[in-house]
Amino acid sequence: MTYDIAVLAGDGIGPEITQAAMEVLKAAAKRFGFSVRPVPALIGGIAIDRTGDPLPEETIRICKSSAAVLLGAVGGPKWDQLPGDARPEKGLLRIRASLKLFANLRPAVVYPALRAASPLKDEILGEGLDLMMVRELTGGIYFGERGREEKNGMTRAFDTESYTVEEIRRILRVAFDIARKRRGRLCSVDKANVLESSRLWRETAIELSAQYPDVELTHMYVDNAAMQLVRDPRQFDTIVTSNLFGDILSDEASQITGSIGMLPSASLGESTLGLYEPIHGSAPDLAGKDIANPIAAILSAAMMLRYSLGQPAAADAVEQAVNRVLEAGVRTADLASKGELVVGTKAMTAHILSALERD
Ligand code: NAD
Repeated sequence: MTYDIAVLAGDGIGPEITQAAMEVLKAAAKRFGFSVRPVPALIGGIAIDRTGDPLPEETIRICKSSAAVLLGAVGGPKWDQLPGDARPEKGLLRIRASLKLFANLRPAVVYPALRAASPLKDEILGEGLDLMMVRELTGGIYFGERGREEKNGMTRAFDTESYTVEEIRRILRVAFDIARKRRGRLCSVDKANVLESSRLWRETAIELSAQYPDVELTHMYVDNAAMQLVRDPRQFDTIVTSNLFGDILSDEASQITGSIGMLPSASLGESTLGLYEPIHGSAPDLAGKDIANPIAAILSAAMMLRYSLGQPAAADAVEQAVNRVLEAGVRTADLASKGELVVGTKAMTAHILSALERD
């Protein structure tokens, strides 16, 4: 079995980290008896330079005919003066829309070896943290009716939170399926004490839960969820929420881990074709210096193995290899405490590859 992987390296550190992730993906594939074939395509600033468009049609075509998409990062000072629609970041929004990716998955994991990087106290984190945030990505207030109007000499602006049952059901289904593969607990976050759209969200969650008797469904108001994430984050397994609430809570959850270079993400739609990318940006300050942390990209590849390629054992092996390398004290500059030995992007990747092979 050979899977085509569209590789959209993008700008800044994007090429270095996607190369690292592809090396790990290839090694994992070899070990588990399948293969992957990278198909490079342009996105972001480099796509603007070469074609005048941050997301050329050719890239969309390549992505649609691949098993999954690996994306690095886009943007940089060179393109900062361009108008909104012509900017590299527009390529990101357009690729998610073109592939109809409505579910954003962001794990927040605190590895025991990196506990010191978290701003939370040891007694709160205990043995570490492993939660999954599932955010609705294409509906809600960011896409609802909006506008400004003048009335009686006053200016009014409005944005509308709106969800259909179908939109709610499909994101909840993704979340239930994920919770089922994790520790079997799903917390649906809403504001059902105030918002009608949240009441529909909660009713739909309760109705759908009948199809998932093995998943324990709970509900929490978003204001409480924001508090509980820092008070006792280990109570959560999988969280599902709307676009707006998820935008805020997923940034809060990622901050708990304390290290931006470690955080992967996945965006999924109706089919198995998903897009996998680190949550960090193109870090132009680090580009080309072999110092960026490749782990967020490598863990994004692990998510690809689990959610698009149907290779959970390979995904586990990659995550365990990363864990072992961290346990052994290997650190890129962004993770290192005083006195710890620091390695570059290539050396970190080599350590993870050899941990994967030794397993
Ligand atoms: P950034 O995430 O690129 O960098 C923030 C800080 O984290 C910097 O100090 C950087 O050095 C550090 N950092 C990021 N990734 C790292 C890694 N893998 N290893 C070690 N350190 C790492 O965010 P920014 O500086 O606000 O933005 C830089 C550019 O990236 C901008 O053009 C922005 O628009 C773009 N951006 C792109 C994406 C994306 O492609 N998804 C996301 C955010 C920002």
